[in-house]
Amino acid sequence: MDSIHLRWMKEAMAMAEEALAAGEVPVGCVFVRDEKVIAKARNRTNQLRNATRHAELEAIDEILSDQTLTPQATRYPLSTTTLYVTVEPCMMCASALRQLGIREVFYGCGNERFGGCGSVLGVNSDLDHPIHPAYKATGGYYREDAIMILRRFYISENTNAPVPRPKVNRVLKTTID
Ligand SMILES: [Zn+2]
Repeated sequence: MDSIHLRWMKEAMAMAEEALAAGEVPVGCVFVRDEKVIAKARNRTNQLRNATRHAELEAIDEILSDQTLTPQATRYPLSTTTLYVTVEPCMMCASALRQLGIREVFYGCGNERFGGCGSVLGVNSDLDHPIHPAYKATGGYYREDAIMILRRFYISENTNAPVPRPKVNRVLKTTID
């Protein structure tokens, strides 16, 4: 795998670690333009009590509201921008990325429940769209790290559930299929 992609993905993983430390589902991302990170973000759905506050949309808000990064409204403001995200974008984010003309997406692990770049629906390219161009999305960059950090989160959560499962019975699975 191209080392430059791994380098950017490592920065996305650092954002996922930040999410984990904040008690959020650990997903992080960076947006890269002209060999530079122009925005980075992580999931903030719990903090903001808003299920749309995924890492990708947090970063997009930052990019579009910044006058230097987005000096004027254009149809495809992300056409020279590449996304690196630790988990395959969900259907919502995959659609937003297509509407904004993202150049390309690299991700860590697939998202079997909500994935919008092929796991559940191919919002990025398999689905025809009358206007917005397709984009390429490639997974597998630091995939094991992306899976492990999700497991670390899920093994410690649900303590607010009506009948919390005792943590003692939970074992962190460390092998990756
Ligand atoms: Zn999403």
